[in-house]
Amino acid sequence: MRILIFGPNGSGKGTQSALLVNRFQVAHIESGAIFRDHAKRGTELGKEAKTYTDRGALVPDSITIPMILDRLNAADCAKGWILDGFPRNPSQAIALLDGLSKAGTPLDAVVEIQVDREIAKARLLGRRTCPAGHPNNLAIPGIQPVGEHEPYFCWKCGAELIGRSDDMDENAIDIRLNIYFDAENGTLAAVQRVHDWCKKSNTTYVTLDGSAKIDQVQAELCQGLGLT
Ligand SMILES: [Zn+2]
Repeated sequence: MRILIFGPNGSGKGTQSALLVNRFQVAHIESGAIFRDHAKRGTELGKEAKTYTDRGALVPDSITIPMILDRLNAADCAKGWILDGFPRNPSQAIALLDGLSKAGTPLDAVVEIQVDREIAKARLLGRRTCPAGHPNNLAIPGIQPVGEHEPYFCWKCGAELIGRSDDMDENAIDIRLNIYFDAENGTLAAVQRVHDWCKKSNTTYVTLDGSAKIDQVQAELCQGLGLT
């Protein structure tokens, strides 16, 4: 099963992907990890990409698409994959759909988790880490930590929670959400292109309400994919 998943940070996309991975033994492929891996290993494509990222420019499709297609062909993707974090603009969307089609591995389904920008932001700001790994979030009923102010304590085990990390400050969150919610040139524009392609090619397209409870979102996801 080959699935493309869309959703802003804070939509629960990571949680839903992980549940699908456990259940169906597909690989969760996060595009950022692919790019970091090429950079770390110093591959030809990685070196080429670096000449763009070094000057803050967008890495062209001629570099990103081969990196992604190569990763999706790896042994751990034999049973399928969920691609997460790509495409982020219309040009990438077209190049990806074209590349997958030429490789003989077109998408089987696309999942879009919709959530209001304000909810996504509150969830991102509300994340707290328990040393034992229990999820805690000030903005999600059911897993809200205990306390009125920092430091908070885990709702499940009572451990003192780690505060927000620096890369999740409000400004960084706004920048990420701006890219996602840009319906002209950003991710939502890519979503629209992919949606159009699904309609034309009769490919399954599942829209989910990310503000619902995790179990409910998961149930709707499985139903939408025709899985029971
Ligand atoms: Zn805990």
